[in-house]
Amino acid sequence: MARYREALCRLCRREGEKLYLKGDRCYTDKCGVERRKYAPGQHGQRKKKPSDYALQLREKQKAKEIYGVLESQFKGNFQIAERRKGVAGSNLLQVLECRLDNAVYRLGFAANRRQARQLILHGHFTVNNKKVSIPSYQLRAGDIIGLKEASKKLSVIEENVSKIEHRGLPAWIEMDVTNLKGKILHAPSRDEIELPVQEQLIVELYSK
Ligand code: SF4
Repeated sequence: MARYREALCRLCRREGEKLYLKGDRCYTDKCGVERRKYAPGQHGQRKKKPSDYALQLREKQKAKEIYGVLESQFKGNFQIAERRKGVAGSNLLQVLECRLDNAVYRLGFAANRRQARQLILHGHFTVNNKKVSIPSYQLRAGDIIGLKEASKKLSVIEENVSKIEHRGLPAWIEMDVTNLKGKILHAPSRDEIELPVQEQLIVELYSK
């Protein structure tokens, strides 16, 4: 599966803010943005007023980097969002949030979305008791996300699960820590999605 291979901290530094792509390290003073508060590369410290197009492009790139989605899939998600009733920008974030890899991360089974994607690809997760190994799988209200019995004993899962109680859960999902099952309560509304992205700028970019 194609994915970003660039150093993750460079992506944050290019956006000038923390995108929390690595997990625990993002909350320490080892964070790349904390250590070097300028964009990577030869011209990283130059200051230039960005054009409207540049601002729109950066918001799209930021959303893609946070969710770890490539351009073609991101555009496909936008087309789905446009066909839905309501505001296209909020719909887009809803489609991205309802990806299985995002829900696995939000529930605390994985330290970050990249790890969530890897665990799903290795076949550790179920949706409604059926194995699903597609990270982009779209979840719906009422879906139950669980682990295969043997996967509950994986050290990486045990480590992540031991930290679940320190992580807040968004209002649209719930977690049964005893049985290691998560549930989608409803599709997330914009105010339930904590994300440093101005989605309207992405809509403007794709509407050109
Ligand atoms: Fe981004 Fe995390 Fe790296 Fe900080 S540590 S720059 S938040 S990926």
